[in-house]
Amino acid sequence: MKIKDTLAQVKAKLLSGGIENPALEAKLILEKVTGLKGSKLIVYDDKDLIPTQEQDLNSIVLKRLQNYPLAYLLGHREFWSLDLKVTEDTLIPRPDTETLVEEALAEEFKSALDLGTGTGAIILSLKKERPYAHCVAVELNPRTLEIAKENALLNKLHVDFRLGFWFEPLEKGEIFDLIVSNPPYIEENDPHLRQNGLNFEPQGALVSGPQGLDDLKIIIANAPKFLKKGGRLLVEHGFNQGAAVRELFFKASFSEVKTICDLGGNERVTCGRYL
Ligand code: GLN
Repeated sequence: MKIKDTLAQVKAKLLSGGIENPALEAKLILEKVTGLKGSKLIVYDDKDLIPTQEQDLNSIVLKRLQNYPLAYLLGHREFWSLDLKVTEDTLIPRPDTETLVEEALAEEFKSALDLGTGTGAIILSLKKERPYAHCVAVELNPRTLEIAKENALLNKLHVDFRLGFWFEPLEKGEIFDLIVSNPPYIEENDPHLRQNGLNFEPQGALVSGPQGLDDLKIIIANAPKFLKKGGRLLVEHGFNQGAAVRELFFKASFSEVKTICDLGGNERVTCGRYL
């Protein structure tokens, strides 16, 4: 079948499957399958797909109709000004997390630490904007860490990557101007975990105990030991966790504690200064 007819057919299938942006997704899937990017897809839309492309296309569309995330099917996702490789070993970077990056960049810093880096989305964005900053990133899953390293190479950015559990891979006395984290923060029994394709993402990157606060507690309580005087901690959290997270910041002796809302108007990022 010709590319243009396939495009229309895929769009119709996605639409009837309840996919939100069927036209855009159909275009991205066709780009992936044919290797023809952007306007080339239109220029060559009279060409026929070859049988292997048809097969690839059918299996992608089938998975997408089962709510398997588009980013995994395409193998990459844009975040900030970066194109990042994503696999089932990484959480898919969310626009909400750009709120955290923006707030981090609101002040100057010479060193930054990212805990639970995943694709590397946060630390690579910070490094891109502050090329002279010393950037360290920690990740627990070795396969995920490899993806973060690949993303650093793909985007020609240098970050010091470490494998391990939160602060464990850091040396005693290693201190930073800025610590950032988008840790797991969803409650164990949250029904959302079975919706919107979240069930296909690494549960270890999403779920954090009965109230979703287990990892945030560890990060906030230990951050002061790794911050310079006047340094800041910024964490992402659930829309309903603002008050609990601010409380954790106060308990850990942070000052200037404030919560910032994401683009949807939900409390999403809390920050504090260690004096
Ligand atoms: N913001 C993500 C979601 O709700 C969760 C990310 C996380 O747990 N760090 O889909």
